[in-house]
Amino acid sequence: MNENEFDVIVVGSGPAGSSASFFCTKNKLKTLLLDKAVFPRDKTCGDAESGKTVGILKKMNLWEEAKKLPHGTTYGVILSSPNGYAVEISYPENDGRKGEGMICPRKIFDDFLFQNSKKTVSKCIEGFTVTDVIKKDEQVIGVKGIDTEKNEKEFYAKIVIGADGANSVIATKLGLNKIDAKHQCIASRAYYDNVEGLTQNIEIHFIESVLPGYFWIFPCGGKKANVGVGILTSDVKKKNKKVVQTMLDAIEKEPLFKERFKNAKRISEINGWTLPMASKKRKLTGNGFVLCGDAGSLIDPFTGEGMGNGMTSGFIAAEVIAEAIKENDLSEKKLSEYEKKLWNAIGEEVKTSYLLQRMGKIKPLLNFVIKKAATKKEVQEVISGMLANEEAKKEFYSPVFYLKLLFS
Ligand SMILES: Cc1cc2nc3c(=O)[nH]c(=O)nc-3n(C[C@H](O)[C@H](O)[C@H](O)COP(=O)(O)OP(=O)(O)OC[C@H]3O[C@@H](n4cnc5c(N)ncnc54)[C@H](O)[C@@H]3O)c2cc1C
Repeated sequence: MNENEFDVIVVGSGPAGSSASFFCTKNKLKTLLLDKAVFPRDKTCGDAESGKTVGILKKMNLWEEAKKLPHGTTYGVILSSPNGYAVEISYPENDGRKGEGMICPRKIFDDFLFQNSKKTVSKCIEGFTVTDVIKKDEQVIGVKGIDTEKNEKEFYAKIVIGADGANSVIATKLGLNKIDAKHQCIASRAYYDNVEGLTQNIEIHFIESVLPGYFWIFPCGGKKANVGVGILTSDVKKKNKKVVQTMLDAIEKEPLFKERFKNAKRISEINGWTLPMASKKRKLTGNGFVLCGDAGSLIDPFTGEGMGNGMTSGFIAAEVIAEAIKENDLSEKKLSEYEKKLWNAIGEEVKTSYLLQRMGKIKPLLNFVIKKAATKKEVQEVISGMLANEEAKKEFYSPVFYLKLLFS
C-alpha cells in the first residue's frame, strides 16, 4: 500500500466517525480519518449524552476520562403537558445505582472523542473537505477533496465510511440522501446563563405554542442551560412554524418560563440544524461503502437523540468491515450484514420511539398521561420502569395501559 492507500477511509469525525475510526483501528485496519473542520468545533445539539452513548464510551475504555469533562449531571426528566401539569420522573436505576445522565457541550465532547480517535488512526487530516467519491465500475474505491490550501487530493481505500452528518456529501453523491419531511426534524438551540429554577433534571415541555414539537431546557452546570425547540419538518411546513421565533416566544411569553428567564442572558448565537430520523430506513451500504450516524439517518424519532445510535453504528460497521476485508469481499452483499446487525441492535427501539412520537401529537392523550403521572406516584414509577425496558415501553401503545391509568 502506498501512502495514499488505506484499508478504510472515514469521512467525518463526529461521534459516529470517531467511534467508527477508533474501532477500525482496534480491528487492526489501516485507517484514514478526514474532517472538514479543525477541532475543537461546535455542533448544534441538545448536548445530552444518553446511556447508549455511555455504553459505547465504556467499550472504548473512555468513560472514566469522559466523566472528568465539564458537564451537567442529570438524574431524571421533567415532562409538562399542554394544560400545565408537570411530572418529574427519575431515570431508571442502573446496577442498583441511581440512573445518571450527562450534558456536555458538543464542542468539548466531540473534541474529546476526536482526539482519542486521532491518536489511534494511521493518518488524520483536519480541514479536509471531501467533495466526491471515486468509483471504479460500480465499486467505491476512494474519495477526493480539498485541503486548507485549496489543493485537490485523492485517497484510496477498500472501504469508505460516510459519517459526514446530516448533509452528507458521501450519501448525496451516492444518491442516498433523499429528505422525507415526515422523517426529519428541524431544531434550534441556544445557551442561556442565569436561568432560574434549574434542577438536576432535563426538562421537556409539550407546551401549546410549540406543539406538535417540544421545548427543552437541559441544565449544563450552575445556572447555565441548553435551550431549544424541535419540530418535524412536515409540521413546520404544514403549520408554517418559524422554529427560532417559536423558541423565543416560549422563553419570553409563556407564563411557565417568563419568570425563569427574566434575568437570564443568552450567551451564544441561536443555531438551527436538521435531524434525519431513523423512522424511515435508508440504504446504508453498497459496493465499497457504508453510511454511519446522521449520514445514514439514524436519529431516534422520539427523543431526537443521535449520538448513541451514531456511535453504535460506528462500532458495528468496524466489526463488519474488518471481517469483509479479511475475507476479501467488499461487495454490497457482504457489507449489508452491517445493516442487519444495526437494525437488530436499534430497530425495536426505533419502532417504539416512532409510535411514541406519533402519540405525542395527540394533545388530549398527552394531557391525560402527564396529569395522571403528576398526581400519582405509582404511575410515575410505572413510567420510569417502562422507560428502562424496551419490552415494557411497548405498553405505551397498548389501550390496556390507558384503561389502567383511567381507573388508577
Ligand atoms: C438542535 C439539535 C439538538 C440535538 N440534541 C441531541 C441530544 O441532546 N442528544 C443526542 O444524542 N443527539 C442530539 N441531536 C442529534 C445529534 O446532534 C446528531 O445525531 C449527531 O451529531 C450525529 O453524529 P454524526 O457523527 O453522525 O454527525 P456530526 O456530529 O454531524 O458529525 C459529522 C462530521 O462530519 C464532518 N463533515 C461534514 N461534511 C464533510 C465533508 N464534506 N468532508 C469532511 N468532513 C465533513 C463535520 O465537520 C462533522 O465533524 C440533536 C441535533 C440537533 C440539530
